[in-house]
Amino acid sequence: MRVHLILPAAGSGQRFGAGIPKQQVRILHQSLLEWTLTAWQAIPISGHKLLAIAADDDVSRELAAAFSDVEVIHGGRERADTVLAGLRHLSSIADPEDWVMVHDVARPCVQTEDVEQLLQTCQQTQAGGILARPLTDTIKKIDSLGSVSTLDRSTLWAAQTPQCFKLGELTSALAQASERGVAITDEASAIEAMGWPVNIVTGSERNIKVTHAADAALVEYFLKLDLTT
Ligand code: C5P
Repeated sequence: MRVHLILPAAGSGQRFGAGIPKQQVRILHQSLLEWTLTAWQAIPISGHKLLAIAADDDVSRELAAAFSDVEVIHGGRERADTVLAGLRHLSSIADPEDWVMVHDVARPCVQTEDVEQLLQTCQQTQAGGILARPLTDTIKKIDSLGSVSTLDRSTLWAAQTPQCFKLGELTSALAQASERGVAITDEASAIEAMGWPVNIVTGSERNIKVTHAADAALVEYFLKLDLTT
């Protein structure tokens, strides 16, 4: 059974505000995209590695060309469309029982040990799973009338990537969510909607997603730590 990788990188990065797709943003001596691709070179992936970029993103295509084992495909309008495009591509060349890891290109500090732990858990239980972290903030819920309530923090986790599922199961779960027009921001929610189990494996606090400009400074700090340890 092989393990494949899909890296969604077709977002516009509007919240980051640099005027370029955020994977092209430079951190230390290279782009965010190159950091993430470099991180995955150290993680054993036995199957295909797909990078999904916007059709007109020639810069990312060129940056990825240095990584000879990475195949570039076109993403879609929403993240879920991008992932589904990757899954459909894989479905034509891989076994539905293979595992597929989906990892946001905006998380360059992914830790090899966490990915190994996730895959081991999925293989032992024969069920998919995700990296996630328990929440430390107190979380407020505000309804449409402006009424505020507090959620039970002890039950809440922040989902990270990679998220790891069987190729066939994830493809049908995301395809069904897309047909029903359900907004999906991670793979696990499509699996949950099918009533299928999801393992939660604690990921590193370093595995943050670069969304706003301040995140890049924190990522730079973590990358420097990784370079020196
Ligand atoms: O916008 P956000 O940071 O949540 O996006 C997470 C990841 O999904 C990013 O790596 C982004 O490039 C990717 N994405 C995508 N296709 C889209 C939108 C986002 O691949 N249409």
